[in-house]
Amino acid sequence: MSAVTGHIHSLESFGAVDGPGIRYVVFFQGCPLRCIYCHNPDSWEFSQGIKMTVDEVADKIISLRPFYRKGGVTLSGGEPLAQSEFATQLLRRLKDEGFHTAIDTAGSIPLEKCREAVDLADLLLLDIKALDPALCSNITGADGSGAKALLEYRQSQNRPVWIRHVLVPGYTLVLEHLEALAHYLSPFTCIERVELLPFHQLGSHKWELLGLDYTLKNTIPPSSVQAEQARSVFRKRGFSVY
Ligand code: SF4
Repeated sequence: MSAVTGHIHSLESFGAVDGPGIRYVVFFQGCPLRCIYCHNPDSWEFSQGIKMTVDEVADKIISLRPFYRKGGVTLSGGEPLAQSEFATQLLRRLKDEGFHTAIDTAGSIPLEKCREAVDLADLLLLDIKALDPALCSNITGADGSGAKALLEYRQSQNRPVWIRHVLVPGYTLVLEHLEALAHYLSPFTCIERVELLPFHQLGSHKWELLGLDYTLKNTIPPSSVQAEQARSVFRKRGFSVY
């Protein structure tokens, strides 16, 4: 049992896009990055969100256990690894209860601060924002080295990873960037699939509500043809692409 407290942004009991099967998704509050396309800028501030103990969150999930027999639980955010003690204890409790566990992370927390949580995750959903450090800094405010270190660590442990990458016109939806990323990822046998997520405008109103400067307000989401062209870059390298 654990009374460790975390800051939770929200809870989703019927997640269908954050790992295999139907999943309970725990969205953590707080993120050190500032992605220009973030659709949840209200999850950035660490001091906000709902305070909950590990037991309060775990008990909710356990009470709904039959729904997740073929799925599991995903910790997302915000950045779940930023509250590594809470994540570790929650994952440990869920593993003891027999749940499949996943962490959805952008790798912005140094591995030495979150290794235990990473080890407890059956699956890592790793968001690679951009391979090039300068481009990554431009998009997120950080150079992306943490995500690379996390991928190398999971490879060394032979533990599964799904890569996620957002296709942003003018930033990441550029053929040479996609070719370079596919080339970089090719040797990693721990990667089970690559998910290319077309940029969308669904979170733009939140930027306005929070009084934030949204630089992508005139950016048109990728067409289905552009998204398919991007996917083919990764398929050619033998990846399962979604
Ligand atoms: S890592 Fe996720 S939550 Fe954090 S700023 Fe980027 S998109 Fe938003």
